[in-house]
Amino acid sequence: MTSLQGKAAFVTGASRGIGRAVALALAEAGVELGLASRSGEDLGLEGVVARACDVRQPDQVEAAVSATVEKLGRLDILVANAGVGAYGPFLDLPPDQLEEMVDVNVKGTLYAVRAALPHLLESGGADIVTVASEAGRRGLPFEAVYCASKFAQVGFTRALDHEVRERGVRCTNVCPGGVATDFAMGRGRTPEMPELAGMMRPEDVAEVVLFVLTRPRSHRVLETAFRPVTEPSWG
Ligand code: NAP
Repeated sequence: MTSLQGKAAFVTGASRGIGRAVALALAEAGVELGLASRSGEDLGLEGVVARACDVRQPDQVEAAVSATVEKLGRLDILVANAGVGAYGPFLDLPPDQLEEMVDVNVKGTLYAVRAALPHLLESGGADIVTVASEAGRRGLPFEAVYCASKFAQVGFTRALDHEVRERGVRCTNVCPGGVATDFAMGRGRTPEMPELAGMMRPEDVAEVVLFVLTRPRSHRVLETAFRPVTEPSWG
C-alpha cells in the first residue's frame, strides 16, 4: 500500500454525497485538498482550497485548479466526481435535463481533466479517478441519457490511459451501483421506491477510491464495479 500523506488532490462535486465522502477520506489520509462545487463548500476542513465552480464552465474549472496548485504547490490526484442524473422514459426527459447530464457529466469531466492534466504530468506519480457508474458499463432501463453520459466518461478515461500511463498518470473508472445520496433521491425517484432500500453509503465508495489510489505504482486499477446486494443483476 502506498501512503497518500503529503499528496495534493482536486475533487469535483465535493460538497455532498460521494465527493464529500472522498474528500473527507483523503483528508484523513493526509492529502491536501482543492475542492470544487457550485456551492464552494469547504467541508469545515482546515487548509483546503474551496472554490465555487460550475464544471460546465471551463474557465471556472481552470481557475479552481490553478488556485489549488498555487496554494498547494503540486497536484497528484484528480477525482472527477461531479455529476447529475435524471430517470424515466427517454421521450419524457425535458431537454434541459438532457443537456445538464451531458454538460455536467461529460463536458465537466473533460474540462476537469484538461485543467488538471498538465499538473498531474509533473507529479511523478499521479492518478485520475473518474466516478462513473454501473450505468457506464450497461444500458439500464429508463436511464438512457444518464447511461450515455456515463459510457462517455468510461470511454474517455479508458482511452486517456493509453496517452498518459507511461508518463506517470494512472486512470481509473470507479463504477458504483446505487449509493444513498441526494442524487439517488433525485428527479424521477421518490424515497418509497423499493430500489432505494439497501443502497451503499458514500463512504463505501470513498473506501474504494482510497484502495485505487493506494495501489503500489507498479500497477493500476482500470475499473472497479461494485453494487448493493439488493440490486438486481443485469447480466
Ligand atoms: P450528489 O449527492 O447529488 O452530489 C453531487 C455533487 O456534484 C455535489 O457536490 C454537487 O455540488 C456537484 N455538482 C452538481 N452539478 C455540478 C456542477 N454543474 N458543477 C460543479 N459541481 C456540481 O450525488 P452523488 O450521488 O454523490 O454523485 C456523485 C457522482 O457519483 C456522480 O457523478 C454520479 O453520477 C455518480 N454516481 C452516483 C450513484 C448514486 O447512486 N448516488 C451511483 C453511481 C455513480 P453543488 O450542488 O454544490 O454544485
